[in-house]
Amino acid sequence: MKKQNDNKNTKRDGASIFLIFAGLLFLALMLRPMGGGQMTGKFGAVPGAQPAPVELSFSDVLRREKDIKTMDIRGARATGVLRDGTKYRATIAYDPELLSKLSAAGATVSINDDKSWVDYLGIWVPILMGGLFIWWLLRGMRGGPGGLSRSLVSQNPTKITTGKTKTTFKDVAGIDSEKQELMEIVDFLKNKDKFKSVGARVPRGVLLSGEPGTGKTLLARAIAGEANVPFFAASGSDFSGIIVGLGVAKIKEIFEMAKRNAPCILFIDEIDAIGQRRSTHSYNDQDREQTLNQLLIEMDGFSNDTGIIVIGATNRPDMLDAALLRPGRFDRQVYIELPDMAGRREILDLYSKRVKIADSVNLQDLARGTTGFSGADLENLLNEAALHAVRGGRAAVEPIDVEEARDKILMGPRKVRKMRPEDIKLTAYHEAGHAFVSMMYADVTDPIHKATIIPRGRALGMVQHLPIDDKVSMTLAEVRANLAVALAGRAAEEIFFGADKITTGAESDIASATRLARYSITVAGLSPRVGLAAINQVGTFNARSALENASEKTAELVDGEIRDWLDTAHRDAANYLRKNRATVEKLANELLKRETLTGEEIREIVLGRKKTTAPKKNVRRQKKSADDA
Ligand code: ADP
Ligand code: ZN
Repeated sequence: MKKQNDNKNTKRDGASIFLIFAGLLFLALMLRPMGGGQMTGKFGAVPGAQPAPVELSFSDVLRREKDIKTMDIRGARATGVLRDGTKYRATIAYDPELLSKLSAAGATVSINDDKSWVDYLGIWVPILMGGLFIWWLLRGMRGGPGGLSRSLVSQNPTKITTGKTKTTFKDVAGIDSEKQELMEIVDFLKNKDKFKSVGARVPRGVLLSGEPGTGKTLLARAIAGEANVPFFAASGSDFSGIIVGLGVAKIKEIFEMAKRNAPCILFIDEIDAIGQRRSTHSYNDQDREQTLNQLLIEMDGFSNDTGIIVIGATNRPDMLDAALLRPGRFDRQVYIELPDMAGRREILDLYSKRVKIADSVNLQDLARGTTGFSGADLENLLNEAALHAVRGGRAAVEPIDVEEARDKILMGPRKVRKMRPEDIKLTAYHEAGHAFVSMMYADVTDPIHKATIIPRGRALGMVQHLPIDDKVSMTLAEVRANLAVALAGRAAEEIFFGADKITTGAESDIASATRLARYSITVAGLSPRVGLAAINQVGTFNARSALENASEKTAELVDGEIRDWLDTAHRDAANYLRKNRATVEKLANELLKRETLTGEEIREIVLGRKKTTAPKKNVRRQKKSADDA
């Protein structure tokens, strides 16, 4: 792809600036002898020379100014004769007062001004620059309104990526319905006349919204590629800067370019940087508002059949000014979801063609275990896995590489373990607690993928579950089971180390359990005591005053109910652990020995040697329970 900036203006400016600069410099050099001559004339001529001069410092000179008979100054060096006839040399600083004092004392001073032209730069360059700046301002003004910022734009060219793109819809995987929706745009760009003859109104602007990395840029590029039209891309953040008025000029610039190249796609990423809802009245905001207005003017300004489609992208559609979304502007909105399990599988299939992957890697399992990953995350995952394989000297990506890459993206890089042995031991029991209780609820919780005590990100260890599918709701039994599993880590700490040895490591377990209980009770209507009323949460989930449309009494009821659910879950978990101390201890010891246990290994330890991969019905989502440090 070629990069092409419209910077003819920049070049012209550069040339004329250079010419003027050179001219003034020439003038400065012409003036030089005049200055020097004047000074010499004023102070008279140098007398003859005698041998063996003494060296005087500047302070000597100042002190003995009355002794000085003659002084011949060349730059910072002075030579001359004292009144007693001694020859001297001195290094002096330029000091007009010294000169006048010397002349007043009757000395003959001559200045041989042989300053090089470089010395003049110190004086002339600031003057030149000032002159240039004024000239440039005036020149800008002459260009009429916007003239100034127009030349500013040429000095700060918009980063515009252009050119034909080879990307097509084949490069976009897993978001078929979105592709379908955008197919019409491609059709329009290809068969403008057909649309015109029927009189169909075609969108001018399409707003793609969705999480970062869901493929918005990729889709916009693919539309251009499918329709075989040029693709121009700029980013909203390029339009704001320290120079007021620059954004407006840049908007004009990109639309002019689009018009010259129509039909084409004009893609503006991060459009929320320009199109944020107008709110405060800071200086910066005024500038942004002007930029937004200019964008609206430009979008209203071209007729539908020119064939320019403006595609905006944002991950904060709620932040956009309503004016942007009116008919004739970004009136077509496509929300790009994070890919579901099938979508993730498709994206993984697409990118796994580019890396060598061993047969032992199960992409379907990987798709299952990557809930919440965007397309970009999945691409990154396979890339990280490939890097890990290379580092490990393997010829193809193996399951361990995939596992490592996934955990790295999910939880952050492995930490160098700087934990005390007793903390490691406690972590092992904590994770064993989660894993064991999870096995006790195997019929209603997602199967365990693995348990590990390798610290990563903020977590000291974790137990990961692998959802069977992308279900989005839970039964009451599943909620209860998940609460017990979440609180089992803390319960294990109490049982095996004592009530006074429990740690803050269960912080995220407690937070997620509280969140789940509160959601079930106040939003999902799962508590008979609170009933079916939806009690909206305002602000953070555990702020007590943050309950809307609930009386003080209901708020107390809710708080009591949450506590009750959590206490019950904790008690259930503790009971399972107490009754099976030996097995839990075995799990913890295996974790200490091997650091990571797969779901299969955990099942073997808990259920005995037999391989039970009994698939369970009724599984719902809930991916991982990780523990904070
Ligand atoms: P966004 O603009 O939504 O932040 P991008 O389009 O820049 O996301 O996505 C970044 C990269 O992730 C793309 O270049 C592509 O390699 C990959 N990617 C994201 N979504 C998909 C997808 N649905 N299919 C294939 N690749 C994808
Ligand atoms: Zn935990």
